[in-house]
Amino acid sequence: MSVDPRESHQPRSPQGSRIDPYVGAYAARAAGMVASEVRALFAVASRPEIVSLAGGMPNVSALPMEEIGDIVRRVLAERGAMALQYGSAQGDPVLREQICDVMSLEGITASADDVIVTVGSQQALDLVTRVFVDPGDVVLAEAPTYVTAINTFAAFQADIVHVPMDEDGVLPEALEERITALAAAGRRVKFFYTVPNFQNPAGVTMNAERRGRVLEICRRHNLLVLEDNPYGLLRYEGEPLPALRAEAPDNVIYLGSFSKTLSPGFRIGWALAPSSVRAKLVLAAESAMLSHSSFNQMVVGAYLASHPWREQVKGFNEMYRERRDAMLAALEAMMPAGTTWTRPAGGFFVWATLPEGLDAKSMLPRAVSQRVAYVPGTGFYATDDGHRNMRLSFCYPTPEQIREGVRRLVGVIEAETKLRDTFGTASPPPTPGGDAPGPDLP
Ligand code: PMP
Repeated sequence: MSVDPRESHQPRSPQGSRIDPYVGAYAARAAGMVASEVRALFAVASRPEIVSLAGGMPNVSALPMEEIGDIVRRVLAERGAMALQYGSAQGDPVLREQICDVMSLEGITASADDVIVTVGSQQALDLVTRVFVDPGDVVLAEAPTYVTAINTFAAFQADIVHVPMDEDGVLPEALEERITALAAAGRRVKFFYTVPNFQNPAGVTMNAERRGRVLEICRRHNLLVLEDNPYGLLRYEGEPLPALRAEAPDNVIYLGSFSKTLSPGFRIGWALAPSSVRAKLVLAAESAMLSHSSFNQMVVGAYLASHPWREQVKGFNEMYRERRDAMLAALEAMMPAGTTWTRPAGGFFVWATLPEGLDAKSMLPRAVSQRVAYVPGTGFYATDDGHRNMRLSFCYPTPEQIREGVRRLVGVIEAETKLRDTFGTASPPPTPGGDAPGPDLP
């Protein structure tokens, strides 16, 4: 008789989750694939009574749904046999040309041959890491940095070394110092990962002078730059800055995405890479997923061809600007002394720093009980840093909800401050949350 080890009568661990019968069989790299300990709280945070400043979901309800419906019908009627067929692992050539037009808005001149379509830019992060990183190799990344990039690098057993940032982006001296120290220690550094525009989670943008210096340093040390730019076109003030890739085509792999300028539901992103690297990425993509969704690519291509998408992005920017302004004004008006935060010129995120002695992760259960959620800063570091930080997203809630969310958050911070002043310490850390359904952490 064969017994399915996954049946429900299995023993349970003390935490109540099932004991994994395959625990001894996993590859070493699976050890780096762990759920965040605040996951359970995020499952609660998606309840309607909670103002979530946690998730980074674009507000897709602002899209022209009827028109997208017409485009879907047209693609099926006119190109159905191709749209429902396998395609290539590099992606639809027509869409790749259109992607070059999109990138030209940030100063990039590129050939469609060097573009590879990916399943969101997330897959591009995975493919680049797969192609470059052996266990123990170093990946340099800003501190803090995008949580799912950390997870990807960790899944390939990279050693993530952070480089500090300030309001103008990464500190070039610190980057050079890290590269030199790692070389002296005989470590192999594979690339420097950066989100130069409206960074996730810090909201800051690398200024023009720093872009030049970062490129000069990386070039001198023969170090590849991985430029991840999903938010670049979502600018609410000031002048756009040229992409790093625009200045250094041979030293940069550039990642883009339609997730924020159109919709994450199509899962269309891309990588633009020097030709030799691009060929490797295509082979890696082929083994990961054989071919892309021809249908999704054609729908996005038809949308770009027939819809005034630049106007659509402008409309998004007006909506997000209003939300950013609501958040910054509410923080300015209500936050207690000793709390600081960044002032993003675009994107989705504000990065706040709590007064001394407070811990954003420990404070989260109280925040959720007060019906407000955020992402504690610790998730955005590969090290044990970020305890006093939190990421506040303004992309999804309305301005009204944002004001209410900040009001609740201020109450929580004040209560924690009182606790600290009375007992010398604020709330203890939350207990690990097991494998509850994941938060929306993009
Ligand atoms: N990079 C960054 C910095 C992000 O914030 C995100 C998601 N929000 C991604 C990559 C992945 O986005 P997608 O796969 O939807 O293109």
